Amino acid sequence: MRASKLKELEKWLLEKRKGLVSGVRSRNATRFETEGGTLDLADQAASAYTKEFLLSLGDAERRLLRQVDAALEKIRLRTYGTCEKCGEEIAIKRLEALPFAEFCIACQEEEERR
Ligand SMILES: [Zn+2]
Repeated sequence: MRASKLKELEKWLLEKRKGLVSGVRSRNATRFETEGGTLDLADQAASAYTKEFLLSLGDAERRLLRQVDAALEKIRLRTYGTCEKCGEEIAIKRLEALPFAEFCIACQEEEERR
């Protein structure tokens, strides 16, 4: 993937994350349960803050945030754009439509069939 494209997707992800975070400030707190490892995606300095706002996230938002964080982590680790399941590259068109996609189209369809 070109560096400029990667930057563009990273920017989108950061904006999305910001939107999710700011969208929940006024919401009532719901119980937050860690789903094993969700929080270690955030670095140590940010984790207290992360935990605080996760308290007020709904399930759907929390899942989305987890996907966004996972994508950002993969950018950091330089593994972004590869399928979590088969390890193949995810089509750029798919990433443009869904920058936090975890699976390639074939694996996604398989997941949905289960
Ligand atoms: Zn795959």
